Amino acid sequence: MNMEEKELGKSLDFIRTIISEDVTSQKNDGRVHTRFPPEPNGYLHLGHAKSICLNFGIAEEFNGLCNLRLDDTNPSAEKAEYALAIQGDLRWLGFDWEDRLFHASDNFQQLYEWAIQLIKDHKAYVCDLTFEEMREYRGTLTEPGKNSPYRNREVSENIDLLERMKKGEFEEGTKTLRVKIDMNSPNLNMRDPVIYRIMHREHPETGDKWKIYPSYDFAHGQSDSLEGITHSLCTLEFEHHRPLYDWFCKNLGIHHPQQIEFARLNLNYTVMSKRKMLRLVEEGHVDGWDDPRMATLSGMRRRGFTPSSIRSFCDKVGLAKRENIIEMELLEFCLREDLNKSAHRRLGVLDPLKVTISNYPESKVEELDAINNPEDPTTGTRKVSFSREVFIDRNDFMEDPPKKYFRMAVGKEVRLKYAYYITCQKVIKDEDGKIIELICEYDPESRGGGTPDQRKVKGTIQWVDSTTAINPEIRLYDRLFKVPNPDEVEEGKDFLSNLNSDSLTSLSDALVEKSIEELQAGEPFQLERIGYFTLDTKAQEMGKLVLNRSVAMRDSWAKKHSK
Ligand code: ATP
Ligand code: MG
Repeated sequence: MNMEEKELGKSLDFIRTIISEDVTSQKNDGRVHTRFPPEPNGYLHLGHAKSICLNFGIAEEFNGLCNLRLDDTNPSAEKAEYALAIQGDLRWLGFDWEDRLFHASDNFQQLYEWAIQLIKDHKAYVCDLTFEEMREYRGTLTEPGKNSPYRNREVSENIDLLERMKKGEFEEGTKTLRVKIDMNSPNLNMRDPVIYRIMHREHPETGDKWKIYPSYDFAHGQSDSLEGITHSLCTLEFEHHRPLYDWFCKNLGIHHPQQIEFARLNLNYTVMSKRKMLRLVEEGHVDGWDDPRMATLSGMRRRGFTPSSIRSFCDKVGLAKRENIIEMELLEFCLREDLNKSAHRRLGVLDPLKVTISNYPESKVEELDAINNPEDPTTGTRKVSFSREVFIDRNDFMEDPPKKYFRMAVGKEVRLKYAYYITCQKVIKDEDGKIIELICEYDPESRGGGTPDQRKVKGTIQWVDSTTAINPEIRLYDRLFKVPNPDEVEEGKDFLSNLNSDSLTSLSDALVEKSIEELQAGEPFQLERIGYFTLDTKAQEMGKLVLNRSVAMRDSWAKKHSK
C-alpha cells in the first residue's frame, strides 16, 4: 500500500479495502494480480485510462502484477491496428506489462475443451434456434423463459455437432452452443446463455483456424483464471454477468478470481464509447481517432495532454460504486497544474497589432534575456530579439479604456515583458477606421522590464519582434458537443445532433517567437497569457507548423471549487 496515503491517513477506496483484507487473510496466498482487458475494436479513451490506473496502480501498491490482455473474441470488429495503438497508448501513459501480454484468443483451444467438458457433464447443448427465436424463448424481466426444444440432445450428438460447427459445416446463425442453467432465473444472463456462435471470419491472431468463436462471458473469466488473476476489476455493466462468471469457474472447477465492479468514468461535453467515437471518425466529424478534440488517449496526446496530468486526473476522480459525470474543467485543471510546473514559456500574439517605437534606432536589433520557466529556475533563459517594430495582441490595446485598464492605451505606460517600458503616443488607422499601427516611445533605461526608478507600471503584456517572428497556424479547440450530456436528444435524433459546430477555430495571422520552430511535436509550452500549446504531430510530419492549444490559461475549475 502507498505509504504516503497511510501517513496522511487517507482512507482506502472500497476496492483497495477488499484487496487489503484479502492480502491480510492470505487469500490467494496473499498474491495480488490484476489485468487490463481491452477489446481491440477501437482506440483507448480516458475511461480506459481510469481502468488502467486502477489495475496497474493496485498491482504496484500491493507488490503484485498487472497483465495486459487483448480481449479478442469478436473478429468482426477487431483489428491489428487497434491492438498496436492500445499498446502504444498504454506505454505512453507510463505503464509496463513486461512480458505479460496475453490474448483471449491464446485460450481458444482450452476454451473449446472446456466446452466439451460441459457437454459431457450435461451442462451444455447445441441449439438450432435462430437468434430471433431465442429472444422469444428467453422471456423478459417479468416473464420466465421457455426451455429450448434442443436442450436435451444426447452428449454424443452435441459433441458431433460442435465439432462440425468448428469445421465450418454450418451457416452463420444456424446453431449455437449454450449452457444449461435456468430459463426461469430472474437474471436474464443465466437463461441458458450462448457460449459459442458460428462466424466464418478470419481472426487477426488465429487466422482461419476457427469457424466458431466464444462469447465474451465464456472467454473473459476463464482467461482471468488461466492467468492466475486474483481480482478482476470491471465496470458496473458487468454486475449482472458476475453470477455467470462465478458459474463457469465453479462448474469447470478452476481457479476462481473475484470480480469487483466500479462505476465507469463519464465526462461531460464528450462521448466515451468506442462505438460512438467510431461514428465520429467514419462519418468525418473529426480528423481521425487522434483528433485533438476526442477523449481518446491519442487525441489527448496530440492536443498536448501529458501522461502525468491524466494519471493525476484519474487519481482525483477516485472510485465510485454509482455512475456519475465528471466535469471537463477538472481535467483541464489537472493539465494546467502539471504544465504550470513543467512547461517552458514562449511569447506570441494571436491577433497582431503593429507597434513602432519611434525613438528606437532604425536598424538596431537587440538580444534580450527571457526566462524559460519562472517555476523552475534551472531551465534558465533564452534570447529573444527586439527592434523598432514589434507586435502586440490587438486585445491588449484600447482606444477608450475604462478606469482600471492596465494594458496599452494612448498616454499610458506598459511593460513589454522581458523588454522595455513603452508609452503609446499615437494611433494610426486605415480608411475604414480600423487601427493598424501604434506609435510608441520607449524608455531606454528600462531594459529587461525592470524598474529604472520607483515609478509604477501596472500592465505587462507580451509581444513579438517583427525581424524574427514566425507565422504558424494556430488551432483553438472548444468542446466537441454543445451540451453537457450529448446523449440527451430529442426524439428521432441522435448524439450527433449535439455536435458543436464551432469546436475548432483556426487562426492564420498569429505571430510567435522563432524558437518555437525548434520544439518537438508533443512538447508542451506556454504562450504567455494565452494558454498551453504543443506542435501538431500530423502537421509536423507534413513539414507544416501548426500549434494546438491544449488548454487556455483561465482556470474556471479552481475558481468554482475554491472557497
Ligand atoms: P466502450 O464502451 O467505450 O466500447 P468497453 O467497455 O467496451 O468500452 P473494453 O475494451 O471492453 O471497452 O474495456 C476495457 C476495460 O476498460 C474494461 O475493463 C472496461 O470495464 C474498462 N472501461 C471501459 N470504459 C470505461 C470507462 N468509461 N470508465 C472506466 N473503465 C472503463
Ligand atoms: Mg466492450
